[in-house]
Amino acid sequence: MKRQEQVFHILEKCGALISGHVQLRSGKHSQRFLDMRRAQLFPESTETLVGLLSEQIKMNVTGIVGRSPHCVVFAHELAKMLARNSKKDKPLSLQSMPREKSSDGNPLVYFDHLYSAQLNGETIGIIEDVGTTDATMKAMIQATRDCGAEVTFAAYMCNRGGITAEQLGVEKLYSLLEISKEDKNWQFFKPDECPYCAQGQQLEWKVDDSNGLLVPA
Ligand SMILES: [Zn+2]
Repeated sequence: MKRQEQVFHILEKCGALISGHVQLRSGKHSQRFLDMRRAQLFPESTETLVGLLSEQIKMNVTGIVGRSPHCVVFAHELAKMLARNSKKDKPLSLQSMPREKSSDGNPLVYFDHLYSAQLNGETIGIIEDVGTTDATMKAMIQATRDCGAEVTFAAYMCNRGGITAEQLGVEKLYSLLEISKEDKNWQFFKPDECPYCAQGQQLEWKVDDSNGLLVPA
C-alpha cells in the first residue's frame, strides 16, 4: 500500500477523515473533512502515523515542540521515535501554550516558564497538525527562537497549503500528507456554487462553529 493510502486508511478508521457532503466552519461545502486531533485519541494509530513521518527525518535535534492542545501527543511521539533512530540524542518533548490571536489578527504563540527556560540553547524540530497557511507554523518558529533555541526543521501531519521550508525559513520541512490546493477531492465551495448541492445531495455533516467538532447536519 502506498504511504498516502495507508495514512488515509488509518485516519478513516480513527474518524479523523470523513467523506460526505459537509459544511465547514467557514460555511463552505466540501466532500471531505479532516480533523487530525481525532487520531490522537488512538495511541496505536498515532504511533503508526508519526512513525511514517519520522522515517523521512534524518536530522538530529535535541527537542520537538508541539502546540497545545492539538499537537502535544504528536510531538511526544515524534521525540520518542527520533530518540529510537539516533543513539546520540534523546530529544525532549516540549509544548507551547494554545495559539492566540494578536491585535493585528495574526496567530500568537508563547511558552510557559518551564518550557521557555528549557528551550534555551536547544536544537528544535516543530510539529503541527494541519497547515493550510504558514501563519501558525511561523508563529511557532518565532516563539521557539525567542526562547533562545535553534529551529532546524518543521513538520506537518498534513500540509494542505503547499507550504515550503524556504517560506518558513527552516532548513527542512517534512510532511506526512501533502494535499495540493488544486486536489479535486479536497476543494471547497460557497453553498450557492457547491456542485454537490447542485446535484441535490443533502448536507450530511456540519462543523459546529463553537467547538470545531463535526455533527450531523
Ligand atoms: Zn453543498
